[in-house]
Amino acid sequence: MPQLRKDPVTKRWVITIHENPKGPRDFPVLPTDTNGHNCPFCPGHESQTPQEVMSYREPNTLPNQPGWRVRVVPNRYPALQIEGDLDRTGIGLYDMMNGIGAHEVIIETPDHHGGFDTMSRDQVLKIVTSYADRYRDLKRDRRFRYILIFKNSGAAAGASLDHPHSQLIATPIIPKRVMEEVEGAKQYFYYKERCVFCDVIRQELSSGSRIIHENENFVAFAPFASRFPFETWIAPKDHKASFGDIEEGELETFASALHGTLRKLIKTLNSPPFNFIIHTSPCDELCTDYYHWHLEIMPRLTKVAGFEWGSGFYVNPVPPEEAARHLLQSGVA
Ligand SMILES: [Zn+2]
Ligand SMILES: [Zn+2]
Ligand SMILES: [Zn+2]
Repeated sequence: MPQLRKDPVTKRWVITIHENPKGPRDFPVLPTDTNGHNCPFCPGHESQTPQEVMSYREPNTLPNQPGWRVRVVPNRYPALQIEGDLDRTGIGLYDMMNGIGAHEVIIETPDHHGGFDTMSRDQVLKIVTSYADRYRDLKRDRRFRYILIFKNSGAAAGASLDHPHSQLIATPIIPKRVMEEVEGAKQYFYYKERCVFCDVIRQELSSGSRIIHENENFVAFAPFASRFPFETWIAPKDHKASFGDIEEGELETFASALHGTLRKLIKTLNSPPFNFIIHTSPCDELCTDYYHWHLEIMPRLTKVAGFEWGSGFYVNPVPPEEAARHLLQSGVA
C-alpha cells in the first residue's frame, strides 16, 4: 500500500510507493512509445486495462468491448489505492496515513493519433462531460477531500503512453498548491468581500491585453504573473467554486473554450508537450464564496532548474501580453 507522508517543515504531503519499489538501476527509465500495435488504450485491447468504470459508447455495444467514444478505467499503476482505511498515525514528529485514493485514466478518444487540435468539438464535449461525471461520482466518497483532474501530453510533460488520455486522482488531503490558492483567496475576500478570481477576470476582460479566447460563459487569458511562457488559464465568467457544479450548457461552452485555446497553443507552438490541471474547491466546499474554479494550461517549453527549485521564483522569458498577442495571431478562431 502506498503511504502519504507529511513534511514536518513545509506541511507538504508526499506519496511513497512501497510495493515493488524501484532501485537505482530503474532510473532513468524512459517511457517507450507505442505505435498503437500494442497500445492498451486502443480499441480491441480493452482486456489489457482494468475493467472500465464508465464509457460513452455507440448503441448496442458492451462494456469492455470496442464501440466506445470515451472510456474511463482505473490506473493499472495507481499512485493511491481505492480500498482500505486511512489509518492516520504519527511516529515521533512524523505524520502519515495510508495512501488511499482513486486514480483513474480517461481515455479521450479511440483514435491513437487523435489530439485536441484534430478532434471534433463534440469529442472535446464528451471528454469534459466525463470529467464532470467522474468528479460528481467520486465526490460522494467521504474519504476524499480533493479531486484533481489533469492531463500530461507528450513524454516531456510526463505522459507514459502516446494514446491521448487524461487522469483523475482523488486524495484524502487537500494538495498544498490548492491550499495556497484557497488561503490567498480567503484573505482577499475578508479584506474586500469579493472573490479575487472574479476581480481578476473583470480586470482582464476590461484591459483585454492578455485575453486569448472568450465566449458566453468562459474566458481564457495569460495570467499577469505567468510562471511559464504561454501559461494560460480558462475560467468561468460567473462565480462558481466547484467544477462539479458546472451545468449542462456550460459544459458546451467550456469544451469550446478548451478546444479553441488548445488549438491556438498547439498551432502557435508546433505541438508542444503540455500539462493542464483543473483547480477546483476542496470537496467540503467551505470556500464557496471566495474560491473560483479554473483550468491551468502549462506548455512545457522551459525546464524548471536550480533557481526555481531553490527559490520558488520562476523566470519567464515570454511576457504574457506577448504570448496572448502571438496566440491571437494564430489564425485559429
Ligand atoms: Zn492507442
Ligand atoms: Zn469568483
Ligand atoms: Zn489555480
